[in-house]
Amino acid sequence: METIPLFNIERQNARLHEKLTAAADRVLTNGVYISGEENRLLEERIASYCSSTYAVAVNSGTDALILSLDVAGVKPGDEVITTPYTFFATAEAIKRLGATPVFVDIDPGSYNIDPALIEEAITERTKAIVPVHLFGLPANMETINKIAERYHLAVIEDACQAIGAKHKGKPAGSWGDLACLSFYPTKNFGACGDGGMILTNHQVFAEKLKMIRTHGTYKKYHHSYIGYNTRLDEMQAAFLSEKLSYLSDWNDRRRTIAKAYSEAFSRLPVQLPREEEDERHVYHLYILKTKRAEELEEYLKDHGIGCGIYYPLPLHRQKALIGKCQYHRLSVSEETAGTTLAIPIYPELTEEEQDQVIRRVLHFFG
Ligand SMILES: *Cc1c(COP(=O)(O)O)cnc(C)c1O
Repeated sequence: METIPLFNIERQNARLHEKLTAAADRVLTNGVYISGEENRLLEERIASYCSSTYAVAVNSGTDALILSLDVAGVKPGDEVITTPYTFFATAEAIKRLGATPVFVDIDPGSYNIDPALIEEAITERTKAIVPVHLFGLPANMETINKIAERYHLAVIEDACQAIGAKHKGKPAGSWGDLACLSFYPTKNFGACGDGGMILTNHQVFAEKLKMIRTHGTYKKYHHSYIGYNTRLDEMQAAFLSEKLSYLSDWNDRRRTIAKAYSEAFSRLPVQLPREEEDERHVYHLYILKTKRAEELEEYLKDHGIGCGIYYPLPLHRQKALIGKCQYHRLSVSEETAGTTLAIPIYPELTEEEQDQVIRRVLHFFG
């Protein structure tokens, strides 16, 4: 039995029980369940939180990626540069648009796409770059944006794991032409169901996104585009609005736990998360990189501590993508896969639990 699970969202939601039930009541009574005031308010608040001009709520982070690629003009036959070391949805969205994911290897310290390798992957068919801010640490957006500008490529940030993070003092989600957030329950800012959002500073993108999320509608029963049906329901928007005022404190708390972990593990033969001076890592996951990851996973689970390998298989090795993606050399991703173990980190983790995790990890390494 896991006494300290890898995620514990029940604890967060239990603490907010009164506020969440009041929010649910408000929506139930009000009777508007789709595309109402709760959505409008949440979009306004998240746009402001992430220093973005527009925010468009959708049903998931995956749909946020699909709709972003769509409005960025990605078409069948196009190539989109991204990382193979991410959740499947990043490349799945590219394939969904009929484009080809072109995988570029990661930087071994940050686990994010290595900007130094992007240029050699650009061809005449390249349309966009999708950097992922993995585990809560932003990719090197300053450099990526410079490359994108030089080659006239769209930049779509996959910020699904990184709301509240910063790169060079500027929020994740405010760097790209478009940026995608996920409110999947275990994310740093989680709903009680699916949810997602797209951020952009471009008015034309925001206007088109608002239409295509509802069947390309510009006026009831009048359709300008072949769209989708992907909306955040009012109940989830209401829950998220209640949670937003806590998000900065929650991310701070994650950072405090990460600091305690990193201090405790500083002498172990493992690679710890990295963070530069001008970065704000929000530790969606706290990762220990070790060749003994599987052994450590088994040991911790045997002792009641939840953990998991993120990710065991890079995307170019996924059955769904073999022969359907492009890459040159992905040696760092290959070497990293299966060696990165996530241990419990969430705002509600108690100091006692934190110490228990530390003791177990230290004990494993003797
Ligand atoms: C969670 C996640 C997604 C997908 O978000 P959903 O809301 O689950 O659809 C996409 N990319 C990354 C990096 C994620 O972590």
